[in-house]
Amino acid sequence: MTELEDVRPEPQGLPGAPGSGRARPSMILIVEDQPELTRALRINLRARRYDVLTARTGREALEAAAAEPPDAVILDLGLPDIDGTEVIVELRRWYQAPIIVLSGRTSPGDKIGALDVGADDYVTKPFAMAELLARLRAALRRDEGGPGSGQPRQALIGRWLVNLAAHQVTGADDEDGPRVTLRLTPTEWRILEILVGRPGQLVGSAEILTGVWGPGFGQRTNYLRFHMARLRGKLEDNPARPRHLLTEPGMGYRYQP
Ligand code: CA
Repeated sequence: MTELEDVRPEPQGLPGAPGSGRARPSMILIVEDQPELTRALRINLRARRYDVLTARTGREALEAAAAEPPDAVILDLGLPDIDGTEVIVELRRWYQAPIIVLSGRTSPGDKIGALDVGADDYVTKPFAMAELLARLRAALRRDEGGPGSGQPRQALIGRWLVNLAAHQVTGADDEDGPRVTLRLTPTEWRILEILVGRPGQLVGSAEILTGVWGPGFGQRTNYLRFHMARLRGKLEDNPARPRHLLTEPGMGYRYQP
């Protein structure tokens, strides 16, 4: 049994996959627990010159995305471990590129739920491959061109949503638009941009110092300690026990989504 209406590769007459103008093909992560559907998706995406990563469970998906952030995610909701909606929530803590849900759940509640937590589009099974590919192209086009494309432009830190593009920090729980905002200094923004741009990675103190203050400041770790303490005081729920802006003693700092 397949949940696909049409598994034949889509005709090649249309313009190539978005990204054909980029230096590399777009990388798509398929998160799906049905092997035959994963296979059909992989064949069709490769035929359209996309690079493809696959994951069978939610946890595999989160690990794969963190290891090599894809240009878009095609995500089933009914997964063997964690629910796909949960995967969207976790991804959206740091991941900005398109997420397209591909699910057998057809109720408006499921669709609204997935879109509300950050999915870009929702395709119901059974589906036509040509339609899914068209939605994927549209999502990638919308995502192209923005400053810092492919890099996280928003991050959740404690109860704050940090928007790097707008230089704005708002309460993450403000459903009806931002009511509470927080001011950061230009130095604090530059530090955050470096750390949040590489989620989960250790960034050396010298690299941050020279990136923010310039060459010759690589040893001024006291500058960085001071400003990191200020950032934690503003953003972390408990600045004494930071969960997102972490110190790696003797080495540097890490933004943990
Ligand atoms: Ca499934």
